[in-house]
Amino acid sequence: MSTALDDQLANFVGASTGPVTTSPHPVNTPMIRHWVEAMDDHNPVYVDEEAARAAGYDGVIAPATMLQAWIMRGLRASQAAAEQRGGSAMDEVMALLDEHGYTSVVATNCDQHYERSLVLGDELSVTSVIDSISGEKETGLGVGRFVTTRMEFSDATGALVATMLFRILKFRPRPKVEPSAPRMLRPRPALTQDNEFFFAGAKEGKLLIQRCMDCGVLRHPPRPTCARCQSYEWDTVVSTGRGVIYSFVVNHYPQVPAFDYPLIVALVELEEGTRLVANVDGFTPDTIAIGQAVEAEFVAFDDDLTLPVFRPVER
Ligand code: ZN
Repeated sequence: MSTALDDQLANFVGASTGPVTTSPHPVNTPMIRHWVEAMDDHNPVYVDEEAARAAGYDGVIAPATMLQAWIMRGLRASQAAAEQRGGSAMDEVMALLDEHGYTSVVATNCDQHYERSLVLGDELSVTSVIDSISGEKETGLGVGRFVTTRMEFSDATGALVATMLFRILKFRPRPKVEPSAPRMLRPRPALTQDNEFFFAGAKEGKLLIQRCMDCGVLRHPPRPTCARCQSYEWDTVVSTGRGVIYSFVVNHYPQVPAFDYPLIVALVELEEGTRLVANVDGFTPDTIAIGQAVEAEFVAFDDDLTLPVFRPVER
């Protein structure tokens, strides 16, 4: 089935892509010598008259693959010529394909056919037309259309010496898929001999509260001395894990990769009377409320970090 774009593109097939271009210099020895040097081509027929004649030629011949080199004018001259002549049929085709989302381009094929070997003194001219524009094709790079240009090289007498088909693919680039980054680990708690018990307890599924061994007062966050009696002696009790939301904040920024945002950070008041800052689950910023009953569950965020997370409960 042909689309409106197919029909539009079909109008360009056979259109010239620019004026006849002539070689700035006739086929010549210095350029051939540079070419064979650069290509490391040791065939003597390109540089040695005797060898060329021995091979059946009238004299040295140009390497066939130099074809395009003879009509290349250099970057500045080519740009100036393009500016002078304005938009070509090829420019229009490219713009049309861009408009339809085929914004990327890659060269795919170059086929050259030689009618005869080029010899010293040959003066070339070349015409270029749009040979074909394919329908939409699925390719490894994405959906696209192949645009083939046909260049015909003639000598000074107008005789065809070579033909070149040059094909590009104009395609719709696939959206870039970011590789999914491994989830960052949560920041580690800074462990001290005063707070290490809390995280060790969490790993065992226990919510531990520090208790003064002299006066029995509970305290959190962990610290070395009792605020009431200044005793250094302490042990722990296991909390029921039940409490209420005493307060909370919803953090939007700055964002740390290990967390999901908006991030609710709650201050939970435990049944035992101490409060702790903790994560919650099962709430949204709209449903969490001060006074809401919660209960701790233990979540292993990674091999090394288990923390209490408070979830809403009916009470
Ligand atoms: Zn005490």
